[in-house]
Amino acid sequence: VKNASQSTYCFFDINMQLNLQREAEINNTMEQALKDKEFVVYLQPKVNLQDNSLVGAEALVRWIRDGIIIMPGDFIPIFENNGFVVNLDFYIYEEVCKIIKEWMSQGRKLVPISVNVSRVHLHDERFVDEIKKLVDSYEIPYNLLELELTESIFLNNTEAALSAMRKLRSLGFGVSIDDFGAGYSSLNLLKDMATDVIKLDKGFFGHDNMQREEQIIVSSIISMAKQLNMKVLSEGVETQNQSDFLKSVLCDMAQGYLFSKPMPVSEFEKLI
Ligand code: C2E
Ligand code: CA
Ligand code: CA
Ligand code: CA
Repeated sequence: VKNASQSTYCFFDINMQLNLQREAEINNTMEQALKDKEFVVYLQPKVNLQDNSLVGAEALVRWIRDGIIIMPGDFIPIFENNGFVVNLDFYIYEEVCKIIKEWMSQGRKLVPISVNVSRVHLHDERFVDEIKKLVDSYEIPYNLLELELTESIFLNNTEAALSAMRKLRSLGFGVSIDDFGAGYSSLNLLKDMATDVIKLDKGFFGHDNMQREEQIIVSSIISMAKQLNMKVLSEGVETQNQSDFLKSVLCDMAQGYLFSKPMPVSEFEKLI
């Protein structure tokens, strides 16, 4: 504890204790929760910005226990530390395969679904093979599944992340860079990132009136991406102004509350 003040010490101590209690409870209940199917896939639409048509969805997990929805921010970081994120994610990937399989058998309009890849997966070099095996067992085309890799995993784990990305892509899976521009510049890595889609971090769209500087940065990333044959999706788009601006600078796609919140699968199915 850096601060010598007694009161500050106590304040941190109580919070730490509460966090430890919460964490212990999560640790004690996660495995049973997975068996009890308390982890549920929500889907958030992705739209084409030029005509607002539906072009895909992102799968986002919700932990629903006794009718209460727990958001991923409250448990994913814990699961990344204790390794359980691997079990949870493969469960989510399988749920997504089942959803796609169901849509195929119902003759619905098919749009790709993206899933999130935690940095923890890259510790296992069999990761891509496991994904392939799973998708093969459901007999669905690889291009209906897209894997989102956060830009931050490229910084600590550059070689493993690039290699997984190349393998996924050569098999025909969709690949995107999540949270692009969130913190660290990954511009120098962009030349090695054989990605289909760059997802611009929602931090660029935190307020309605984007500053001139932000507009310049966003439009430059978009034009750079186009020349690199990548598509750009803007995340966290909440207002019409933002959408109009993005459309004017030829951003390809968007995702955000302006268009739709993440929703249960049954609700998403009304859109396709
Ligand atoms: P993410 O991958 O960047 O996902 C986008 C987050 O932005 C989601 O939060 C989504 O609900 C939220 N969002 C969508 N539109 C808007 C908007 O217009 N404004 C704002 N402010 N937010 C918007 P969510 O669902 O709470 O997920 C948080 C993070 O948890 C995700 O960030 C992702 O990193 C992680 N996560 C979620 N599901 C999974 C999963 O199944 N596996 C793994 N490994 N991570 C997951
Ligand atoms: Ca994501
Ligand atoms: Ca993101
Ligand atoms: Ca994220």
